[in-house]
Amino acid sequence: MALGSETIGRKLLWSIGLPGLVVALLGVGHFSRETRQAVHEGTHLEALALAEFVASTFTQPQAPGAAPHAAVAEVLASDTRLFRSVEDLRVLMPNGRIRWSRRPAEQGHPHPEAERLSATGPETARSSEHGTEVVRPLGGPECSGCHASDSAQRMGVLQVRLGEPAMHRQLQAVFRDALGAMVLFVGILALVTWLSLRFVLTRPLKRLSEAMGRAESGDLLVRADARGTDEISRLGAAFNQMLARLTSMKVEEIDTHRDLELVKEKLALKDELEERLRELSLLFDVARSLNTTLELDELLARITRLVVERLHIPDFTIMLLNEEGLLEVKHAWPQGQGLEGHTFAVGEGACGRAAQSRKAVYLPDLADGTSIFARRGLGGSTEEGSLLAVPMVHAETLLGVINFQRKETASFSGEEIELFTAVADQAATAVTNARLHAETVKLTLTDALTGVPNRRHLFQRLDLELARAQRFGVPMALLMVDVDHFKRLNDLAGHRAGDETLRRVSDVLRTRARKVDTVGRYGGEEFVLLLPQVSKATAFEVAETLRRAVAEAVMLNRPGLPGGHVTVSIGVSHYPTDANTQEGLVDCADSALYCSKRTGRNRVTAFEAGMEMHPGRERSIAAPPTDAPTSPPASSGIAKA
Ligand code: GH3
Ligand code: MG
Ligand code: MG
Repeated sequence: MALGSETIGRKLLWSIGLPGLVVALLGVGHFSRETRQAVHEGTHLEALALAEFVASTFTQPQAPGAAPHAAVAEVLASDTRLFRSVEDLRVLMPNGRIRWSRRPAEQGHPHPEAERLSATGPETARSSEHGTEVVRPLGGPECSGCHASDSAQRMGVLQVRLGEPAMHRQLQAVFRDALGAMVLFVGILALVTWLSLRFVLTRPLKRLSEAMGRAESGDLLVRADARGTDEISRLGAAFNQMLARLTSMKVEEIDTHRDLELVKEKLALKDELEERLRELSLLFDVARSLNTTLELDELLARITRLVVERLHIPDFTIMLLNEEGLLEVKHAWPQGQGLEGHTFAVGEGACGRAAQSRKAVYLPDLADGTSIFARRGLGGSTEEGSLLAVPMVHAETLLGVINFQRKETASFSGEEIELFTAVADQAATAVTNARLHAETVKLTLTDALTGVPNRRHLFQRLDLELARAQRFGVPMALLMVDVDHFKRLNDLAGHRAGDETLRRVSDVLRTRARKVDTVGRYGGEEFVLLLPQVSKATAFEVAETLRRAVAEAVMLNRPGLPGGHVTVSIGVSHYPTDANTQEGLVDCADSALYCSKRTGRNRVTAFEAGMEMHPGRERSIAAPPTDAPTSPPASSGIAKA
């Protein structure tokens, strides 16, 4: 048992052993005192009885010839406990000399305490710790038989001293032994108690306490010793049950926690999946919406709507790379800021840097003056919030940049930047498709050699212009232009020179025509001009101007080409004067052209009734080749018109 620690065993030991020891000591002390008292009193009585006995023995008649008081000596010589205790037995004479003593050597000698003893009254008994002394006067009438002659000495004193110490010492020894036995008993009791406490209480309790400590520190698999049937074993069993329950609870808790973590993970995954789904749906909507139009303007308007409504961007700009290689603002939101048409160089500002690096540029805080729009004081741009500039790149070709802006700083998350980049990619694809479509449409409607509307486009325009003229009751004219002797030009100068000539002629016609007029290639070396809302006379004048312009502007210095001038012949038809239908107008103009050819070329002829007798097909057969230089047309055409 550890003495330094406070244990139940130690407490019990102290609580049992100490009171036991004290009670034992008190008991021993009490009985010692009581016994001593009893011995004391017994000795006292014995001393008195002995004195009486000795005194009476002294008065007994003696046998003849016997030594005086031999009976006393004989009695005293008997080895009884009482007489062994007699220490002194003296008879003193009145003069203080010892007349008779148990020790014969003292006889005749004076007693040192003779005075005290003689002064004593009738009989006294005095007890002390060491013994009891009885002093009894002798020498009454009973002694006169022996001591008649010595009457003066008849009176004497008997002193009997009975020693108590012998018995007392015995008792003390007994009690000392008893005390020792008691201490030994208490010691053995304490040892036995300690051992039994140690094995029955302390050690099991210590083990239980250790088990509890380990359980407290988290080891729920520890078990207490519960093999016995005593209270501690039952406590251990109860503790084990509690631990088992705790363990199962812990297992349940771990399971629950794991389930919870699993659910959390699933929830997070679900959230992420929903977010991805939302983004994918958004991208799908963007792609679907953007792919339903091939018109660039309509497309940019749709991107605007999508960004505002679906991406919740209150402030943004779409810039496309123009022919000068600058980023030109095509659409901006909110509208009415006057940003459209402004240009930024590649590398200038966030949008320029995005275009240059072809990567998104994110400015989380515009307060540091990083917005090029704000620096230029454009629109309602402020130096607040955050800006994301995303390049529109398709097939490694930069198309432009989209600027997304919010009023709050650092308001674009990483996922949003990814999403907006994907949206910008979609927009880039849509813009590319729109441009390709526009290019294709242009190709299908434009003559590849001269760049003017081809025959199909020309007739579409004729249809439109004629319908408009008919609807609004306004006139229109059709001019058919044919290059003179073009075959010969081809033959002499080659087809490439012929092509060049056609381009130049078409350029002259296009530049001289009004914006509302349409110049188209009818076929071969023939062009048609549609002049809305003109009188026949004005149309004739225009044709004449064109004829002269071609003759002046287009030259080819080739042998065999007189003067190098390229000339054209023109036929003019007029709605409603000459015809009301497309075919009628074309035929009339063709007939007039034939007339110009027939009358010498490099001329303008307005259609007149009767000319339809000479269709164009016949003209080409009938028209005689002529080397005559071109000359201004006869004024008859105009006069007749
Ligand atoms: P005319 O004065 O009567 O109009 O005689 P012409 O030679 O101009 O007329 P013709 O109809 O005999 O010849 C037209 C020529 O134009 C025939 C053809 O080889 C040539 N031609 C047609 N289309 C092209 C073209 O795209 N490029 C070139 N270089 N020549 C063309
Ligand atoms: Mg021709
Ligand atoms: Mg010709």
